[in-house]
Amino acid sequence: MSTSVSKDAAGSILSPRPMVRVISVYLFYLLGAALALGAVACGGPNADRETKPAPTVTASPRPEPPQPDLHGFSFPIVGGCLPTSERLIPNAPRTYRNGVHEGIDFYQSDNCTKITGGTEVVAAKAGRVIRADLEYVDLTAKTVQAYLNNPNTEHSLDQFRGRQVWIDHGAGVVTRYCHLSGIAPGITTDLAVAVGQLIAFVGESGTPTSTRKPGTEYHLHFEVRVGDSYLGKGLPAKQVRPLYRELFGVTGK
Ligand SMILES: [Zn+2]
Repeated sequence: MSTSVSKDAAGSILSPRPMVRVISVYLFYLLGAALALGAVACGGPNADRETKPAPTVTASPRPEPPQPDLHGFSFPIVGGCLPTSERLIPNAPRTYRNGVHEGIDFYQSDNCTKITGGTEVVAAKAGRVIRADLEYVDLTAKTVQAYLNNPNTEHSLDQFRGRQVWIDHGAGVVTRYCHLSGIAPGITTDLAVAVGQLIAFVGESGTPTSTRKPGTEYHLHFEVRVGDSYLGKGLPAKQVRPLYRELFGVTGK
């Protein structure tokens, strides 16, 4: 048969058969030793000591970072309430700057109390003032246009919020009060304020409309920042509204 012929030929050419057997047996033992070593390294029966997990340290746990407390806020305008329109709550589109709304707008036309230029704005919760624009300069038609040409930079967005006060409530929660016409006497950076304390007055600063038709855009734009975002970011109105109802402790329908 042709197969046996070629085997015989290969055997006679390479080496005598006994030598092939010796080498095969030697290789077999080498392979066995390698497998045994591998088993140890990969967790064989003798590997317990090396792979035992480190004991869990429970004696001195690292303290948890403080969690944002999104309860116990008051409306920033006494007698105010959440607007009914979805255009006035977070995530409503804002076409003039191709962006989304990041806060709540308190307008007289959709609220529970009188809101006009000069209406008092109060701290929504106790905290520390971290920004009070005491040196604010009103925008002009020309400066507004410059920001509208490049609307979504941090600087432009900040300018569109007009004169502002920011209050830090701890654990990454900051409230922003925007479009103000003025800041209450004595309110300055680093001041500790109590909930309900007068901090500023409603205005229309920073709104593009205020440069074209002054006196027609009075409202408070109020933001609740959480970390580097805002409360309700990315959620549909149906889910945003309950977050703010909970924030202000609004009960009932
Ligand atoms: Zn707004």
